[in-house]
Amino acid sequence: MRRLRRTKVVATLGPASGSAETIARLFEAGADVFRINMSHTPHDRMRELVAAIRKVEKDHNRPIGILVDLQGPKLRVGAFAGGSAMLDNGATFTFDADPVPGDTTRVHLPHPEIFEGVQAGHTLLLDDGKIRLVATEASKQKIVVRVVVGGKLSDRKGVSLPDSILPFSALTPKDRSDLDAALDTGIDWIGLSFVQRPDDIAEAKKITRGRAAVMAKIEKPQAVLRLDEIIDVADALMVARGDLGVEMPLEKVPGIQKQITRIARRAGKPVVVATQMLESMISSPVPTRAEVSDVATAIFDGADAVMLSAESAAGQFPVEAVSTMNRIAEEVESEDTYHTIMKAQHAEPEATGADAIAAATRQIAETLDLSASICWTSAGATGLRVARERPQVPIVALSPNLATGRKLSVAWGIHCIVTEDARDTADMVDRACKLAFKDGFAKAGRRVIIVAGVPLGTPGATNMIRIAFVGADAAD
Ligand code: PEP
Repeated sequence: MRRLRRTKVVATLGPASGSAETIARLFEAGADVFRINMSHTPHDRMRELVAAIRKVEKDHNRPIGILVDLQGPKLRVGAFAGGSAMLDNGATFTFDADPVPGDTTRVHLPHPEIFEGVQAGHTLLLDDGKIRLVATEASKQKIVVRVVVGGKLSDRKGVSLPDSILPFSALTPKDRSDLDAALDTGIDWIGLSFVQRPDDIAEAKKITRGRAAVMAKIEKPQAVLRLDEIIDVADALMVARGDLGVEMPLEKVPGIQKQITRIARRAGKPVVVATQMLESMISSPVPTRAEVSDVATAIFDGADAVMLSAESAAGQFPVEAVSTMNRIAEEVESEDTYHTIMKAQHAEPEATGADAIAAATRQIAETLDLSASICWTSAGATGLRVARERPQVPIVALSPNLATGRKLSVAWGIHCIVTEDARDTADMVDRACKLAFKDGFAKAGRRVIIVAGVPLGTPGATNMIRIAFVGADAAD
């Protein structure tokens, strides 16, 4: 099975899409990666979903990526005596460490770390940003605030602190346990929520030890300020527009989306644009014009993947939402403008053999109108450097590692085929041509370009380019 687009589709699984049959239909409609959200998924359910995805992978003989998204430190206020309290504009309100139910003057804040991080002048946002407060006094015992935008505050509503650096890591005890369970189940990507600093990713990587790649969800202003350092340690980024739009003014989110996609593309690491892309399809079989335009914008930005959340997890039209994304991507990518933009924004090669070869591969393939760029890649690095060039010619990655194929399923343009390592150079060329032919990337009599590191199987040793004819015997 071959996709007719380069941008990948990530579909979140949930009550609307958790059955084995629906997962198969979502894959057939265009989902390349499935996301399991640990905020809503117990371990047993996660294991069932992974088993169902792996069955679809086996049935279709195509590597499929699984992204397990950790909840991260979700901060919530305590409870009120009457279930809620009205906070009036201009009023003074206090958060303290006393678990006694709250009223219109105070409430318990059951996170001691917040008292360490908040300073006078910092903003506090409650209930998805609907209520806005400014701290006027902050100590280890209490935070006194002035209500800037008031409203009804109910028990255990979420708290966001866009100005405060909080002294806890991105991994809560629940995340640690979810992460261990996910790694034991053999998943491919971990989504790290509420990353504040590069050390958060380093901490997760100490646990994953290469067993899964780490995608940093950018949803806090503190992370936006340190993107350069975060991209150095993360394996991929997600533009997590849901929480980003709570912690930052909404009108800043599109600019930040551009900033994040550019920085990830320059680094040659995958970037996923997420949240509310086809929101109306939760209850409607067709999206709005604005939603189609939003998905198209992410594709024109050169994002590696676009993501569905509630649309595929809990909506009434999960399969339609995936096929809508598939159609938008196919259409946008067939526009001349798309290729012009990709060319104009193409990142300069870094001074490495792999980048020099990736740049030359794109140029040779486009100059000679070759059918495909085929790269032998063991851990996926060569594939990602070739994809970083955003070439017009399709990319086929050949890897002996199924884990590499699964990991690359989120990366722009890469069609990965899992095949045993080549025996020698002749076998490498012969098999590359045959596999590209078999999966519909090159016809007999056409030429392809092959990239590899010789000796084969040595990660990071990309040093060879070869132009080859696909022979009439390719079907043998
Ligand atoms: C987001 O905030 O956009 C996001 C993807 O994270 P979550 O769905 O876990 O809130």
